[in-house]
Amino acid sequence: MSKQDDLQKIEDDILANDVTPKLRDGATQLVFADGNPHADIVFIGEAPGKNEDLKGIPFIGAAGKFLDEMLATIGLKREDIYITNIVKYRPPNNRDPLPEEKKAFWPYLVRQLDVIQPKLVVTLGRHSMEYFLPSQKISQIHGEPKRISFGERKQVIMPLFHPAAALYNGGLRQTLIDDFSRIPAIISKI
Ligand code: URA
Repeated sequence: MSKQDDLQKIEDDILANDVTPKLRDGATQLVFADGNPHADIVFIGEAPGKNEDLKGIPFIGAAGKFLDEMLATIGLKREDIYITNIVKYRPPNNRDPLPEEKKAFWPYLVRQLDVIQPKLVVTLGRHSMEYFLPSQKISQIHGEPKRISFGERKQVIMPLFHPAAALYNGGLRQTLIDDFSRIPAIISKI
């Protein structure tokens, strides 16, 4: 089976197991992932927003455009990375995902990482960071790569601020751009 087939199986399992039926009821569709299953870097956001829910593709709204701009500054395109969210249905009115929603999707996220085997996982915002780096504060550890173990995997994780939070906050925006610029050097060291 190819990586694409393995990922398709995970997506099919989310539907077959009816993960978070309440979220599913209120959403247009499942927003599974986008990008390249052979990528060295996986980005993990929080949950789909309105545009993502309508199109079924993660990070295509304003935060996604900002992310694409930052990728371009390090010579990368969408096709070079893989991108997903911890929660894969849009929460009503874009509210924060609930702990039980994140917990329900976590095993599927781990399976995605097991298939892709990325060198680096970049978490965007605290919701996707907290499962990998529990009890840590994003304001203290953003931009710092950490080696962790979870399940059978050893993984380098780099927590970043969420691009939506940084979009309209000049200070945070520059911090995110600066953190982002460290990615190529981190990848080449892994
Ligand atoms: N914010 C996220 O965390 N994920 C998306 O897919 C879009 C916006």
